Amino acid sequence: MTTTSIRATKKHQFERLQMRNVSRSYSKGSFALTDLDLSLGRGEFVALLGPSGCGKSTALACMAGLQPLTSGSIWRDDQRIDNLPTEKRGFGMVFQNYALFPHMTVQKNVEFGLKMRKVARPERATRASRTLELVQLSEHAGRLPAQLSGGQQQRVAIARALAIDPEIVLMDEPLSNLDASLRVELRTEIKRLYQERGLTVLYVTHDQEEALSLATRLVVLRAGKLEQTGTPEEVYTNPVSAYVAGFMGYRNLFSAVASASRSDGTIEVDLNGQRLLGTFRSPGAPQPGAKVTVAIRPEDVKLSAGTAADGLEVIAEVVEYHGRELAVQTRTRGGIVIHLRTGEQVSAGNDVRLQISPDRVLVYSDEAHIDEEGQVKTVG
Ligand code: ATP
Repeated sequence: MTTTSIRATKKHQFERLQMRNVSRSYSKGSFALTDLDLSLGRGEFVALLGPSGCGKSTALACMAGLQPLTSGSIWRDDQRIDNLPTEKRGFGMVFQNYALFPHMTVQKNVEFGLKMRKVARPERATRASRTLELVQLSEHAGRLPAQLSGGQQQRVAIARALAIDPEIVLMDEPLSNLDASLRVELRTEIKRLYQERGLTVLYVTHDQEEALSLATRLVVLRAGKLEQTGTPEEVYTNPVSAYVAGFMGYRNLFSAVASASRSDGTIEVDLNGQRLLGTFRSPGAPQPGAKVTVAIRPEDVKLSAGTAADGLEVIAEVVEYHGRELAVQTRTRGGIVIHLRTGEQVSAGNDVRLQISPDRVLVYSDEAHIDEEGQVKTVG
């Protein structure tokens, strides 16, 4: 990059991009977003996370100017930008379906945004070639999109977004059309580009692993509202609700009944006849007899050593070999399924006892469970 263009970029640098109180309604009385406050500091990689229909794409589309706001505003530092058309907001954008022009070569696709910005032809060509180099596609510059694999096409889409040298890139599920191994490969590529180019990214995904591995901050949406925001570690370790826990790998998510609160801050829950100690994570304290949701990560469940008499009595139902450890599905006498991962030997049909530290048994007042497809479902 020349000194002049570095200066030109610096001149436009922003500190914060903010959605303030944004609501978006597609039809009378029903809101896809409600009073959403969303803030991105320069250099952040923010993942918007949540199940289908929670409003992620709408939030991104409002930020991009592809959807009008019903109320609220969007600010780039002290400049209000929600009245600006998409192309004046200066964002790079990458979508799930690549959205490449099929009749244009890879090179021309990448040059397109520069042409729209009236960049002179020789500079256009140079910048497009440099960006294609960045995504390791230089040798395919002369091909048409149809002559590329899905992963390569999405790389072209990323190159096209980056060619305009945006400070902020918006991405809506860019990896979801790719097969598992390509997804992981391109995920690393996106992270590398983010780091190397010092980008600020707003990234929509419903994939917990993708969000955890890419983002510097997570924003979890629930029915168009912000449910929790924090670093991946904060949200992963301390989900504020059973709903968030469901997204953070707390695969054991089931209903129970609060039986007693103890003076040491732990709470006793009744799992259809067996008692388990946990920590209440919702505001307030539950009344004895109140319905609660228990969230436990499989890796926090330990097999009791030897003949220890305490612990939860279960039967191992399904044992899967996963190389260094086993993934085991167990069931309590009361019929509750508990998944765990262990390095110990265990076989299907074994009676075993489980130990779970009370601070890793998270108890909530909101209701959520995971269905057979592994999706988080909320109740009420
Ligand atoms: P997904 O992961 O399935 O894309 P999402 O979290 O991105 O879901 P949105 O696509 O933002 O969710 O949808 C939020 C709500 O708004 C949903 O109830 C959806 O049906 C509705 N919605 C989205 N787009 C439109 C539209 N163009 N017209 C009417 N309703 C819409």
